[in-house]
Order: sequence, then structure tokens, then C-alpha cells
Amino acid sequence: MRNRFVIGNWKLNGSLSSNATLLDSLVSANVSATGKFCGVCVPAPYLVQAQSALAGSPVGWGSQDVSRFESGAYTGEVSALMVADFGSRYAIVGHSERRAIFGDSDEVVAAKFGQVKKAGLVPILCVGESLAEREAGNTENVVSRQLKSVVDAHGFGALRGVILAYEPVWAIGTGKTASPAQAQEVHAFLRSVVAKCDEQVATELPILYGGSVKKANAADLFANPDVDGGLIGGASLVAEEFLGIWSAL
Ligand code: PEP
Repeated sequence: MRNRFVIGNWKLNGSLSSNATLLDSLVSANVSATGKFCGVCVPAPYLVQAQSALAGSPVGWGSQDVSRFESGAYTGEVSALMVADFGSRYAIVGHSERRAIFGDSDEVVAAKFGQVKKAGLVPILCVGESLAEREAGNTENVVSRQLKSVVDAHGFGALRGVILAYEPVWAIGTGKTASPAQAQEVHAFLRSVVAKCDEQVATELPILYGGSVKKANAADLFANPDVDGGLIGGASLVAEEFLGIWSAL
């Protein structure tokens, strides 16, 4: 049985006081279940707060990005090792907002992925197509290119212990969710790409869906055989929504 995950991506949101309320609700909910994992990826300055609130609870924490560099004269960067220093389990790499707004190329994402692995964290590698790419029939080309750049840099074996997240760009923060069938189709395709090189890695690879998941649509999405949970943006900021999504896992 593959592990299943519900992981929140807080993006550029939060404050010490609002985080405290949200983190308390997650701890009180005691989200413990065999083979199922809950986590939150917080803005880097709040890693210390996440660590002190969540340590000893079943909820893991991590960052939304890391530097592609390990250390040195890179003003403003946060390294994977620094993220790991705060007891983190996860680091997102390749989120479409990083790719589109901050210019993270496939090569940069691959370098960040390498840093995350080296620091002993679990990379949550995001892939996904834009609306124009989907309408042009290029979804499979785009997601396999994004995956291949990481595999070219690190080998198929590097996907062991990784979480993949399929996040169609047109569904992120738009309220437009991929249908369960659309999600399943791309998830099955991604698993088949990995299976061509390593059947066992493919079987064990958790592939999360991200894009306007809410408690109202989570169960239908998670019912698909290749959808192993969700990466949750907006709805992860509201305890009741996020915990409702967790319940659907
Ligand atoms: C995300 O940013 O990873 C995401 C899935 O956002 P939302 O749930 O808000 O669409």
C-alpha cells in the first residue's frame, strides 16, 4: 500500500497569531492514521513556530522552496540544510508560482530537488500544465518534460522516497478543480512514465493532486486509484476546511 498525504501550502500567508490558532487546531485534531500523513509547508520565518507547535504531534512541517545553492554569498536565499535544521520533513520544489513568477526553470528545479534530497528532506516535486498547454494537447509532454529534467539530473532512483504533485496551473487558486477523471488520467500517465524505468519506484510513488481542493471535492478526487492525496493551497489556511480534506483521505 502506498503512503497517502494531505499537505498544506500556506504560500505568502500567516502571522504569529493566526498561525498559532491554525497550528493548535491541527494538533488538537490528532490526525494520526496508519499510512496517512498530514503536513504543512509554511513561510520560512515560521519554521521555528511550526517546529515548536507541531513537534511530538503527527503533523509534519516544511518549506515551500529552497535555494539551489548549499551555502555562500547568495543574499536572501534559504538553504535546504537550514530548513532541515528546524526539524522539517518536507520541502516543495517546482511549484508553478515559483516557475511562472520567479523564473525557476526545469534545471533550477532539478538543482533545488538535489539540495532537498541531500539535506535528507522529502521533496514534493510539483509538475503541471497551463491552460494553453492543455488546450493544445500538450499536458503529457509538459509534465513528462518537468519530471524528466529531475530524472536526467539525478537518475530514476532519486524518485525513491519522493512525493510528486500534479498541479494543473489552471486549477491553482482559481476555484476550477480538475475533474476526478482528468486528475486520474494524468496521475496514471506520470506513474507509467516512472514504471518504464523502475516498476517498484512507480508503485510506491505517492502522487498528490493540487488545484482548488476543498473538503467538498476531496473525497471524489482521492477515490481515484492513482491519486494518493492532495497538496492544498487556499483551503489549508482554514482549519475546518483542511481537516475536512484530511478526513476524506
Ligand atoms: C497550491 O498552491 O499548491 C494549490 C494547490 O493552491 P490552491 O489549493 O489554492 O488551488
